[in-house]
Amino acid sequence: MPELPEVETVRRGLIPAMEGRLIQLAEVNRPDLRWPLPANMPERLTGKRVLALRRRSKYILADLSSGESLLIHLGMSGRMLVSGITLGNFFHDHPAPAKHDHIVLHLEGGARVTFNDARRFGAMDLLPTATAEAHPLLSGIGPEPLGNAFDESYFAATLQGRNTPIKSALLDQHLVAGLGNIYACEVLYRARIAPNTRAGAITDAGRLVAIIRDVLLEAIEAGGSSLKDYRRTDGELGYFQKAFAVYGREGQPCQTPGCTATIARIVQSGRSSFYCPNCQK
Ligand SMILES: [Zn+2]
Repeated sequence: MPELPEVETVRRGLIPAMEGRLIQLAEVNRPDLRWPLPANMPERLTGKRVLALRRRSKYILADLSSGESLLIHLGMSGRMLVSGITLGNFFHDHPAPAKHDHIVLHLEGGARVTFNDARRFGAMDLLPTATAEAHPLLSGIGPEPLGNAFDESYFAATLQGRNTPIKSALLDQHLVAGLGNIYACEVLYRARIAPNTRAGAITDAGRLVAIIRDVLLEAIEAGGSSLKDYRRTDGELGYFQKAFAVYGREGQPCQTPGCTATIARIVQSGRSSFYCPNCQK
């Protein structure tokens, strides 16, 4: 499941193909993804210019010249493929239409953007740009962790008196946007905080804010370098997640210098938490 850094990497990869360009033709090849696609979707996209490509949490928003925004959610298995344009050092020729190519946007300049989703857990919708934040998928989402609103005073006030484990608080999209299981584990490992620590017991919210930002920015940077060096012949906007320090490493030695413990796994709210019992207290 892509988290904030992976979605941001896809957004950055889409910019050269989409931003500022006219959608010359929109092919919509089925009525639904996870939910029904919006009515008259081809007509509402065709002939519209993409003014900006934004991200809110794990959603990409393409603001159109019509006053609507195309909301894109990759879901579990959604993939964006870009062809007809040079991405980094590589030109991607148009591939033959493939199974599960549900939406194909033909853009001014010759680029083609394809949304392929075998399992159809992804979603797209069209909404008025001016009231985008009121969309059911976006309303109630907390501040962006890389934005100014997410600071020490906000996070300290948010955690204060909260009895849930800190891991659950990090995953709560109402409190902070875009963090998923992988980066929540990585953040707590770097912060040396045990995942079952009571959120209200965190004494240095500012330090945790800084670590959240660092972990996400490093992942975005790694994604950006993977885009520049992108070699896949089908033009899929990939993200090669760097080796994680703790996520998925149950039973392996802790990477902290001098620590001889092995990474443990517990299940919290149905999700695996990976942590070092020695380093994280
Ligand atoms: Zn350790």
